Amino acid sequence: MKLITEFLFDRDKRVYYQEQLLKENQDKTLVTIRINYPGIEKSNYITDDIVNIIYDEINTYYGKYIVFKHKYKNKEGIIGHLLFDLDFVNVKKLMINIEEEHILGRCLDIDVYTLKNEKVIGISRSDLFKKARKCFICELDAKICSRAQTHSIEEIKAYFEHLYKKYKEIDKEIEFLSYEASQIALKSMISEVSTFPSFGLVSPVSSGSHKDMDYYTFLNSAFAITPYLKKMFQIGYSYHSPKDIFDAIRNTGKTCEEKMFEATNNINTHKGMIFLMGITIAAMGKTLYENMKFDDIRSIIKLMVQDILDDFKSLDKKHNLTHGEKLYLEYGFTGIRGQVKDGLSVLFDNIIDKYSDSELKENDLYTQILIELMSIVEDSTIVYRHDINTLRKVQEDAKELLNLGGVFTEAGKTRCKELEELYIKENISPGGCADLLAISILLLNAKKIIF
Ligand SMILES: [Zn+2]
Repeated sequence: MKLITEFLFDRDKRVYYQEQLLKENQDKTLVTIRINYPGIEKSNYITDDIVNIIYDEINTYYGKYIVFKHKYKNKEGIIGHLLFDLDFVNVKKLMINIEEEHILGRCLDIDVYTLKNEKVIGISRSDLFKKARKCFICELDAKICSRAQTHSIEEIKAYFEHLYKKYKEIDKEIEFLSYEASQIALKSMISEVSTFPSFGLVSPVSSGSHKDMDYYTFLNSAFAITPYLKKMFQIGYSYHSPKDIFDAIRNTGKTCEEKMFEATNNINTHKGMIFLMGITIAAMGKTLYENMKFDDIRSIIKLMVQDILDDFKSLDKKHNLTHGEKLYLEYGFTGIRGQVKDGLSVLFDNIIDKYSDSELKENDLYTQILIELMSIVEDSTIVYRHDINTLRKVQEDAKELLNLGGVFTEAGKTRCKELEELYIKENISPGGCADLLAISILLLNAKKIIF
């Protein structure tokens, strides 16, 4: 068969397949992506990679809507089909966002189809009162240039190469930045569990009030989750809205949790930490992407998690409640969800500025921050293991300790050791404060190193 015949044959097969997909999934919306490249030889390492990159982009940010996906290669190049459980107007909007904002977005045809009266119909930009797609070379209407063949095939191919190179350069920068951020996050988690005394928490010298884990359980866990924190930073470092970024990292967070349980033989070392640190590191990524300042992390977090308390709406119907959900029902505690909803103001208002230029050595600094946190945080780990009175007692102890001078005085240091022993005896563990200590360390170091 001649190449052109094969090409047309594959195109017809694709159109038929699209129709079948929609007929078998009547109420779904179909997205088909393929390279928008001149000539009938569509496939080379650049065009193939571009389709793969956008296919991954769609899956990463809109994965929660996707019910079926299929990617294959034929004479048209790489083809990706994705079925969305979302109405076609909204799907089209999401796809226009990618076409316009992703650096490679204009290199593809991203078509959106639905079934109407048993017929496949496409939706165009003008249906949404959007301007026609621009030619990627000269800014005119793309259709005009393509009909008039304004640009030579060589010119267009060179442009693809240029865009792809630019993408690769940006990708390298993101790789470097996300690596740096995730290393700071890892150091923060290890610093937190290395801090001693730590009032019943696990440390290198003691398992504190925890019988089922030790220092090394935490090391295993911290190393297992770090690659996913890197991924969450990358997801944040993008043109997508803070809300879409949050939806996307929730998915990564689930995989991250699984890896944590694998690394610890099913012990929950860092579940709350993954939630808090995932949000914080993604917000750091978004803040840097937008060229905003360190303090803007707060508002980015707020935008990301604006609907987070909806999680609590239908708890009465839910089985297998988490610790946080049980405490919400019992005491109205919003826990770590409430803390992020508030843009982590508990840290930005009480810890970050106060300790940014501290001269304390690391162990003393982190112990001191832990005491500060214990004096103000509604620590759900303490309440979950004991009750609300124990939480109030811990808060009072911490306030007294601060009045004694904390780690700055001998009297304070002696009291630290007494409380450490007392809390272990009484099986108290300020686990919620421990997570916030690690986030404090992350923010303090990020402020110094990255921002
Ligand atoms: Zn043009």
